[in-house]
Amino acid sequence: MKVAGLQKTTLIDYPEKIASIIFTQGCNMKCPYCHNPSLIPSAKDEQDFIPLDQLWHFIDHRKELIDGIVITGGEPTLQQGLIDFIKKINSNDLKVKLDTNGSNPNLLAKLINQELLDYIAMDIKAPFAKNEPIIGKSGFEKSISKSIELIKKSTINYEFRTTVVPTLHDAKTIDKIGKLINGSKRHYIQNFRPKNTLDSELLKIKEFPPAKLKEFKSILSKYVERVFIRN
Ligand code: SF4
Repeated sequence: MKVAGLQKTTLIDYPEKIASIIFTQGCNMKCPYCHNPSLIPSAKDEQDFIPLDQLWHFIDHRKELIDGIVITGGEPTLQQGLIDFIKKINSNDLKVKLDTNGSNPNLLAKLINQELLDYIAMDIKAPFAKNEPIIGKSGFEKSISKSIELIKKSTINYEFRTTVVPTLHDAKTIDKIGKLINGSKRHYIQNFRPKNTLDSELLKIKEFPPAKLKEFKSILSKYVERVFIRN
């Protein structure tokens, strides 16, 4: 496990729970709007990572104050040893929320089948035809489709979510995203913020106005049971 960061408390990243956040290093996508670009490279100096004994010490002292841990990234499912890591969190009587870009359905299936997760948040970043400009890569279609189906069929609490960026998303794109997750339970629309982006050109654009987010919400509501706008 390469843990590059830790946030002691969050009241917003794990619905209805008080949690701490663990940020893992390394991602297989390259979204131009990524707000954590320093977490994308998989290789870094060992001294940049939090030693695991230090992390367990933190969790041991924190566990009475929180309900669970959010594991985010980067892309956490790329981490060697993630399953044992989550088992150890569970053994501390803590719930786990996993944030994922959906690119590793095999590992996701193991985590779901072993009932190690309490909540999954999967990004639905783009319709497949727009993968290249939106996630900065191509070739994830099969794995993302598998992850969507796995999550929809599971009994675990979940959300699909999309960060919407004015130069990358429009009503047509959102409609295609809706079709991808047709029949799912919950979707969150998250407005882009022009801060600390991988592509510095995006710092020049403004986020969507509230009316546009409402329009996206009504489009997605044709496909998803409950759609929310996350502020
Ligand atoms: S936004 Fe998420 S999936 Fe995209 S590059 Fe950043 S960490 Fe990876």
